[in-house]
Amino acid sequence: MCFPLLPVSFFQHTRCPVLYFVQLLYFRHRCESVTAAAYPHHLPLQRGVHLFPFSSFLLPALEPSPSLPPTVSISYIPGRRPTKTMGLSNRNLLLISSSMVHGYGYLDHAADELKAILHSAVAKRVLFVPYALRDHEGYAEKVRAPLKQLGFEVESIHNASDPVAAVKDAEAIFIGGGNTFRLLKTLYDMELIEPIHCRALQDGVPYIGSSAGTNVATVNICTTNDMPIIYPPSFAALNLVPFNINPHYVDPDVKSTHKGETREERLRQYHEEPGTPPVLGLREGAMLRVQGDRAEIRGVASARLFRPNKDAEEYTPGSDVSFLLN
Ligand code: ASP
Repeated sequence: MCFPLLPVSFFQHTRCPVLYFVQLLYFRHRCESVTAAAYPHHLPLQRGVHLFPFSSFLLPALEPSPSLPPTVSISYIPGRRPTKTMGLSNRNLLLISSSMVHGYGYLDHAADELKAILHSAVAKRVLFVPYALRDHEGYAEKVRAPLKQLGFEVESIHNASDPVAAVKDAEAIFIGGGNTFRLLKTLYDMELIEPIHCRALQDGVPYIGSSAGTNVATVNICTTNDMPIIYPPSFAALNLVPFNINPHYVDPDVKSTHKGETREERLRQYHEEPGTPPVLGLREGAMLRVQGDRAEIRGVASARLFRPNKDAEEYTPGSDVSFLLN
């Protein structure tokens, strides 16, 4: 049933019981449509609204806050028409180029950023996703130690009896590096793409990705450095940002006698395909911090941005690259 859109003031301060009841019905309807539009995948919330008939009282809490303007995220798969989806700019992401950087211990170069993103959400527990490597237990142990030192507990998703429920309960999600094809295939096989997408993009749960975990946070995995050792059902990834990242980005070595393509040449080949989005090359030590609609280069190294038919651009730590989110 479609009610006409009436200004809220129309009903304000009414003492008439009939009008008051109409107001309740009207607000409930508006609440449901706003919720359904803003949280298309968030079934529990929609169900909650249905179960609570006078949900008009909840309207201010459920209506998207004005500080969270809707964002458009665009899914790019080469050879297919880009598809647009609306989401809320609720993102709280830390996309790290690599966990290991020359001269630092494991994850040490990212310690301050890790603390900042987890404290921002008052998260104490981190749900680790070790699927990019074969040895899940060993990998979880490796990540547990540095995070424990920073004051956070690590629970690995491979130990969860219901991985989807673990994502829905997660205070923060950390997807580690390894083989990007294996990682993405496992996320599809375990039906985790949509739950992780919703938690990170809509619920604002901190998402930390390192290397392969950063690749899968983008529109697709076309700019990974990995070999396609296994075949995921699609290259489309979590789509938390509307562009690609190339982790471990390396500059051409002018003294090298190697004749294979440079990383830049490989990324240019990607951009020869029509409709491909920008690619942010993150050198080891660089990372991208995204908070809502703001994106900034962080870390101890800079990033190089590639766009179709444009010269590459350099961005040092501290640079604002929010334009990439539009
Ligand atoms: N294999 C890399 C990692 O996760 C990902 C990449 O280079 O694309 O460490």
